[in-house]
Amino acid sequence: MAAAALGKIFLLALALVSVIIAERRSYNGYSVLRAKVDNLKHFKVLSTLRDESNFDFWSGPLYGKYADIMASPEEYPELTKLLNSHGIPFSFMINNLETVINQTDALAKTQAEMNWNEYFSTEANYAWLEGLAQNNSNVQVLNIGNSTENRVIKVVKISSGPSNATRPALWIDGTTHAREWISTTTATYVINQLVNNASAHRQILDNLDIYILPIVNPDGYEYSRTTERLWRKTRSILANTTCRGVDPNRNFGYKWSGEGNTINKCSLTHQGAAPFTEPEAQAVRDFILGSNVNWQGFIALHSYSQLWMTPWGYTEDLPRNYQEMMRVANKSVAALAAVHGTRFEAGSSANILYQAKGISIDWAKGVPNITYAYVIELRDTGRYGFVLPPNEILPTAQETWAGIRILAEEIAGVEQD
Ligand SMILES: [Zn+2]
Repeated sequence: MAAAALGKIFLLALALVSVIIAERRSYNGYSVLRAKVDNLKHFKVLSTLRDESNFDFWSGPLYGKYADIMASPEEYPELTKLLNSHGIPFSFMINNLETVINQTDALAKTQAEMNWNEYFSTEANYAWLEGLAQNNSNVQVLNIGNSTENRVIKVVKISSGPSNATRPALWIDGTTHAREWISTTTATYVINQLVNNASAHRQILDNLDIYILPIVNPDGYEYSRTTERLWRKTRSILANTTCRGVDPNRNFGYKWSGEGNTINKCSLTHQGAAPFTEPEAQAVRDFILGSNVNWQGFIALHSYSQLWMTPWGYTEDLPRNYQEMMRVANKSVAALAAVHGTRFEAGSSANILYQAKGISIDWAKGVPNITYAYVIELRDTGRYGFVLPPNEILPTAQETWAGIRILAEEIAGVEQD
């Protein structure tokens, strides 16, 4: 009797352990293939595959360049058969994704001591932000909303002057897409520069307010950190499906799409049942529109592909002040390249990436009509893709700040060389 009871307890413990172990999804045997996209026929085949299958396209297809596609061991034969049948050449970018993920683990614990050699949890980032606000009179942390899972969405406001309706302001956000961790570390680096290296940026700070939201999508980020590294969307619960989440960068209410694969709720780019269903997108909209701020710049940080892009995403047509946005973008990518030699391409989103509807910069340009709106796809060009190793956090942040600084100086009216 006692032995049987002990046996049951043992089995229960074993089950519990296996639940805990199984909690984090393994990417053992997953690969990322790079398909060459050097003609229109291959571009069309791959675009259709992206739109009509559940394959996870990490990047592209970019016409004349490549498409990076993740495949599980089960999906791999189907994918390679399809590529071969169309004569599309491909190579391996990543052989075993699990190995790469294990090298780039984020810290799970909260610690207020920030650095740019590691990735930090939402809680750790927030603790650091609150500490900055306590110690610096020109820093405020603003809670602009709550996520689906009730995490606070925190914006840092850095302002050294009397804020009023005419003082220009720049918005920067990161980790709209959960797996793009490098966008949060880049955002926090910019905060650190403006707060802890303020004397080097006096002219910017004297003439410009800067608002930075390092984690737009905290639910998705935490899910990516603890459970499924390659998670992209929010974590909202959708009707009539077990698939969860909406792509927050398809959920903004300007030229929002009701068409295509994005209706598929399991799609990585699912746009939601209506514009602004996601509280994370709502929070950004409501703060920008409700704040009585003279918004002159809006930057959305993403990864990866090394692109510095203007609106529009929804059409290949160009926005009214495209030439002016490109003038500054070209200066930004030159300043960026001067830091570590990293090459970025500049252009409109639909022309150098692909068409996408409901993206935040289209809304920023189309609704509040913010003068300079950019989406920046950070490092790299696919060697590690979304699982960028920690030793690239600092150089990525340094070079990106050099580019963003150009825009900040333009808006602040600082003389440049
Ligand atoms: Zn993204």
